[in-house]
Amino acid sequence: MKLAAFLKALRLQNRKLDENLITLAYQFADQVHLGQIRYDGQAYLTHPLEVALILSSWGVDQDTIVAGILHDTLDHGQADLQVLNSKFNPQIVKLVEGVTRVGQVQLRGSRSQYFVENLRKMFISMAKDIRVVLIRLADRLHNMRTLDAVPISKQRRIALETINIYAPLAERLGMGLLKGELEDLSFPYAYPKTYLRVSRLTKRVMTKVDRVYEELLKSISSILKEHHLEAKVEIRKKRLFSLFHKLKRPEIKGNLSRIHDLVAARIITTNLTDCYAVLGLVHQHWQPVPGSTISDFIQMPKPNGYQSLHTKVIGSSNFTFEIQIRDEKMHHQAEYGAASHALYSQAKQSGATDEQLEKGISSQSKQKMKWIEELAKWQSQVADDATFLDHLKLDALSKRIYVFSPKGDVYDLPENATPVDFAFAVHSELPFFLSQVLVNGKLVPLSHLLKSRDVVEVIKSKQKRALNRDWLKFTKTAKARLHLKALMN
Ligand code: MN
Repeated sequence: MKLAAFLKALRLQNRKLDENLITLAYQFADQVHLGQIRYDGQAYLTHPLEVALILSSWGVDQDTIVAGILHDTLDHGQADLQVLNSKFNPQIVKLVEGVTRVGQVQLRGSRSQYFVENLRKMFISMAKDIRVVLIRLADRLHNMRTLDAVPISKQRRIALETINIYAPLAERLGMGLLKGELEDLSFPYAYPKTYLRVSRLTKRVMTKVDRVYEELLKSISSILKEHHLEAKVEIRKKRLFSLFHKLKRPEIKGNLSRIHDLVAARIITTNLTDCYAVLGLVHQHWQPVPGSTISDFIQMPKPNGYQSLHTKVIGSSNFTFEIQIRDEKMHHQAEYGAASHALYSQAKQSGATDEQLEKGISSQSKQKMKWIEELAKWQSQVADDATFLDHLKLDALSKRIYVFSPKGDVYDLPENATPVDFAFAVHSELPFFLSQVLVNGKLVPLSHLLKSRDVVEVIKSKQKRALNRDWLKFTKTAKARLHLKALMN
């Protein structure tokens, strides 16, 4: 990509950027990567430029976009750190250093050791500055988009890493659009046979979806117009990888007809109040699927910040579909999450200092990002690579639930967490006084699996007691497991 084309692409995204700075970064990267070629035969420079364009489309700040252009100059391009320092501001250089991989030569370890060391480094850098991980994710997205050109021997490993680490990370950061794309790009390489089976299984239904598409769009638009409600309408098919997961659920048992959200209509209103008005209209026109519930993620956002109203309805010729209703702000949050431009401008409006903005998050959203700091903390306590990966999958990158204390404090825990995990999350001293636990007012065993919205009350013993190592059999959080394992040494 020529410089003029690159600048034009950025302008098309409506970004007001310092074009002198962008040009400087372009020329620097161009020189450093001179003669380097990607697997697809393209000049290496195309990769960092595409990464910068992805970052820009997420609405991140200028320093992050520039760091995206420069992200491979230190390791892949072997540029000199001092030269980089002399040309770019310290924030940009810090970001580039943050995304630079640890030297493979220094490690002399196996491929998997190298992978884990780089993950650790990423999580440490990410706790200092969330933007480091945004660059890593944009890098991964472009590499996945061009995976076809990579040698077959490497494809599967890269696809599995993406499904196991990067997609869940995107999910936890609330970046729904990215998570979906990463999974669908990986699916055929990670599980080729399953991919073929699921695409064959769903082909007929998906064709039907194409037929109802126009009809659905038209009827929703006319309902909105009739009631003078201003809103955007989008129709989307369920993504194949997420469909594959849903098919495995016990209540679905591989039966496509039990899945009611193969098609979802998204109605994006200009304000919050209209969301509920639209929900009312929707139910006047279509009957809700019997036995299904309306989910109000506006009043009760998901742990990653997702907000929306969901309802499943029956359309013409018995075709069921989901309707998701949210306002523009919620929509942006749902698609871009932690990278959301709204986050930055919100932080600025709420009077965040430049220092806070540098970290890319206001104090309020910092609370939401507390898990990142905790992850950086516990990973330093785990020396063993296999245990580190276990903790990562079981806790930090797993699906999340949220539960309440009787006072109404919210705790964000991994799926299938137990009251013991809850106690550790509240305070590391609390488990020493753990005698009985009430969930929604009922006495439960300590191995009880918590569900979202449970109210969990710990009844404390008067005396401090020893922790029970049997709790290791059912605890999920890294915090609890590390404390309990320490007992055994
Ligand atoms: Mn790269």
